[in-house]
Amino acid sequence: MNNFAYTQAASVKEATTTKEADKQAAFIGGGTTLIDIMKSNIEQHSLLIDITKLSMTGITNATEGLRIGTLERMSTVGEHPQVVQNYPVISESLLASASPQLRNMATMGGNLLQKTRCGYYRDVAFPCNKRVPGSGCPAQDGDNRNLAIFGTSPNCIATNASDLAVALVALEAKVTLENAKGQTRTLPLTDFYKVPGSTPHIETHMQPGEIITAITVPSAAHARKSHYLKVRDRASYAYALVSAAVGLDVQGGTIRSARVALGGVGTVPWRVPAVEKALVGKAPTEDNFRAAAALAVRDAAPREHNKFKVELAQRTLVRALLELTA
Ligand code: SF4
Repeated sequence: MNNFAYTQAASVKEATTTKEADKQAAFIGGGTTLIDIMKSNIEQHSLLIDITKLSMTGITNATEGLRIGTLERMSTVGEHPQVVQNYPVISESLLASASPQLRNMATMGGNLLQKTRCGYYRDVAFPCNKRVPGSGCPAQDGDNRNLAIFGTSPNCIATNASDLAVALVALEAKVTLENAKGQTRTLPLTDFYKVPGSTPHIETHMQPGEIITAITVPSAAHARKSHYLKVRDRASYAYALVSAAVGLDVQGGTIRSARVALGGVGTVPWRVPAVEKALVGKAPTEDNFRAAAALAVRDAAPREHNKFKVELAQRTLVRALLELTA
């Protein structure tokens, strides 16, 4: 781990201007990912800008939807009564993540920006295009069991590791960003993440100096009836092999609207509009769920060791829908 300077920002403006002035600086909130990757020499930062005193907090549930400050802790949001009641998929995705200790420290914004668990990225003895652009991607023909089958490129097949992001993408959440000029913009989370293409080291469409200040989620019937199912190698403290975030609005025995996203399988949280479209107008039956789930994997591009995810993704999705409608 290299030596670094530390400063505590007193305002969003101070944080963003400091970061814009020093390209090697990083924001630190909970620090649960950042310190880990700095200790492993995966990233080196000259300056850490502590943002924990900034007023980017609060959980408000209004008629139009939910607003969560980016510095809220995962555990606070996951256990918040309004989130549990009106956005269960968000609560369940948070409480299925990490460990209680980590959830008490990690922030919502940090969760969305967490780094991949690709073993080659995490071990500096190996080349990795995401860590060192142009150095290669040994995962293509190496240990790729946990890696992506959607959104991949010849340069990177790393899986996005966030459970929360899968739930938020399913519910069409947006992030609010603020830059050093005090300008704000709002991006749908589906447009926030970037598939690797030829630049896997660039993971989002954030601009230098920008900070996530809040997450907003529209209110909807399919948000109130929603569910997150995570399939993993062990029951706790493990990343998803496959996960499914589902939301349905069922009226009079017919699905009026559906939201579906998959985790553990994409280089970005993977929403599947074809499945949503196939479910609308149908009865919530196992046969209809199976037929729709088959559409989720039409474009899958598995590698040697993660072919099982094609079947597992369909089974996880069907089970999530069955549990939701039981
Ligand atoms: Fe690096 Fe991506 Fe290849 Fe993993 S899959 S080794 S993160 S370039």
